[in-house]
Amino acid sequence: MAQKTVLIVCVCVCVPAQKTVLIVYAHQSGGSFNSAAKDVAVEALKQQGYKVVVSDLYAMNFKASATVEDITGEVKNPEHFKYGEETMQAWKEGRLCDDIIAEQRKVEAAELVIFQFPMYWFSVPAIMKGWIDRVLSQGFAFSLQKMYSNGIFKDKKAMLSFSTGSMQTMYRPDGLNGDINVTLWPLQNGVLHFCGFQVLAPQVFWCPGHSPPANRTAMLDGWRARLKTLLVERPLTFAPCELFDLTFPGGFMLRPEVREEQRTRPHGITTGHHLGKPLPPDNQLKAEG
Ligand SMILES: Cc1cc2nc3c(=O)[nH]c(=O)nc-3n(C[C@H](O)[C@H](O)[C@H](O)COP(=O)(O)OP(=O)(O)OC[C@H]3O[C@@H](n4cnc5c(N)ncnc54)[C@H](O)[C@@H]3O)c2cc1C
Repeated sequence: MAQKTVLIVCVCVCVPAQKTVLIVYAHQSGGSFNSAAKDVAVEALKQQGYKVVVSDLYAMNFKASATVEDITGEVKNPEHFKYGEETMQAWKEGRLCDDIIAEQRKVEAAELVIFQFPMYWFSVPAIMKGWIDRVLSQGFAFSLQKMYSNGIFKDKKAMLSFSTGSMQTMYRPDGLNGDINVTLWPLQNGVLHFCGFQVLAPQVFWCPGHSPPANRTAMLDGWRARLKTLLVERPLTFAPCELFDLTFPGGFMLRPEVREEQRTRPHGITTGHHLGKPLPPDNQLKAEG
């Protein structure tokens, strides 16, 4: 008797994953200007079809301190605990704690990460610094081979969106606080670009606490307008790895021919790589050209 055959045809419908933006948000109050700036971004990006994920760090009571509790299971060297080495090992073995893993998944899924915060002490609030310390761990966010323009997140974008207590003029090179480009260098170069992110120009809300209501509304309107084309903006310029001799004998310094080529240029390469010359104007505020 002939055997009956059943043919099952599977039709796979490939639905492209919805593009995601992650907003890492640090403000204690839902009535704050930062909350309003976050809401503007959520609404504008959703209107463009993005999935928007918000990590509301204070609401999550996000743990800010980098400690041994961030690792599940045994640590390798309890006598001399080294957070970076132990978390890298734990990341490889899937032994980081749940809140870190959850945030890392959000970063992996995101095309753009926006950090929304009030400036604290020329930097981010401690709870956000804790997110940076704990989530952007070695192995996951960088390695000794993968950093800066060769970095792990080179196909992703990131940006700072923050408010200040000081007026804009105070952050000019001749203002009381000094040049905002210098203030932003550690976060934008040392954190975001270090992990490979293409860094979009920061969104700075100057001194909303002492601005008239109309100015605050205008600041939020400006942010809303910028968000329409944010994801196609050109990123800020940093010094690519190719400019450096990335060997131990070379000391990770500028290659001699690059140094020579830069000799006659009027400005340094970036805010940090100033080569003892005037800083390139607004290198940390605006994309070049
Ligand atoms: C520990 C610490 C360190 C600091 N370090 C620095 C520093 O280094 N440099 C610096 O410049 N500043 C610094 N500051 C100041 C801080 O950056 C500012 O207080 C903060 O940026 C203000 O933002 P906010 O969201 O808290 O404003 P809020 O005070 O919440 O808001 C400002 C105004 O906007 C209004 N508002 C809220 N929602 C809306 C809306 N939808 N439309 C219009 N208006 C709205 C509010 O009602 C309020 O009147 C520091 C503050 C602290 C506490």
